[in-house]
Amino acid sequence: MENGYGWPPPGCDRLVIGHESLGTVLQAPEGSGFHTGDLVAGIVRRPDPVPCAPCAQGEWDFCRNGRYTERGIKQLDGYGAQLWRVEPHFAVRLDPALGDCGVLLEPASVLAKAWEQTERIFTRASWRPRVALVTGAGPIGLFAALLGTQRGLEVHVLDRNGAGPKVGLVTDLGATFHTGDVHDLRITPDVVIECTGHGPLVFELADVVARDAVICLTGISSGTRTVAVGLDEVNKAMVLENTVLFGSVNAGRRHYQQAADALAKADRGWLRRIITRRVPMDGFAAALHKTDDDVKVVVELATDGQP
Ligand SMILES: [Zn+2]
Repeated sequence: MENGYGWPPPGCDRLVIGHESLGTVLQAPEGSGFHTGDLVAGIVRRPDPVPCAPCAQGEWDFCRNGRYTERGIKQLDGYGAQLWRVEPHFAVRLDPALGDCGVLLEPASVLAKAWEQTERIFTRASWRPRVALVTGAGPIGLFAALLGTQRGLEVHVLDRNGAGPKVGLVTDLGATFHTGDVHDLRITPDVVIECTGHGPLVFELADVVARDAVICLTGISSGTRTVAVGLDEVNKAMVLENTVLFGSVNAGRRHYQQAADALAKADRGWLRRIITRRVPMDGFAAALHKTDDDVKVVVELATDGQP
């Protein structure tokens, strides 16, 4: 692993990558609830061995000691193989009509959790959000927008530029696409799902949201930007306006299920447009070079529909 984020399994010097998966069941144990031919995706994280209190309850996405493992990321080989096995508890069945769009389950699960947690925070008061802002129109931002529109919210999406298919994908959800400065949007969001990981933007968002707003951070960046921020002012504004700023990572089993339900009721043609390129395994390196026209690039490991 060079210049990247990931840990090989103990005693190994290589990690099989692939945390986003899709497969067809070839064999399932009796009583597992799965059957040959089922379309499934695998859950990424596994509970830590201690286990901590959340992991003991199946809430590995809230692991307290950081000793969880993750397929394709942290100490467990990933799903990047023509044949893989997964414990039934860590497999999620998908609507077969989704076809290869089922591979979108894992990224969608991260947003299902972000929205679920956001909604839980809103139960602190009697009013309900109406206007949502999503920052970033990559795959994560697009799923945030999809789940926002499925909740009946007025959704706005802000991105640095309007190149490629993202403008059409946003507007076809019934959401509004914006570029430019967050202060110029002329909206007052009740909820923000931040998907860029751009640190300075976080403090600007705290400046433009409605009273009692919730800002959910889902993005991370490798940057080390330093900006001067009037933290006393930010503190004062957040206290006086009941602002909640929180982070959300990964997903538990119920979030995968929520995401599977959301994908099943999403427009199939819209989902298909998220996968802008399909690359065969022997040309996988081409998948690593993204262009403005790419949203999600998929590497196909089963070329003839058979393992
Ligand atoms: Zn744990």
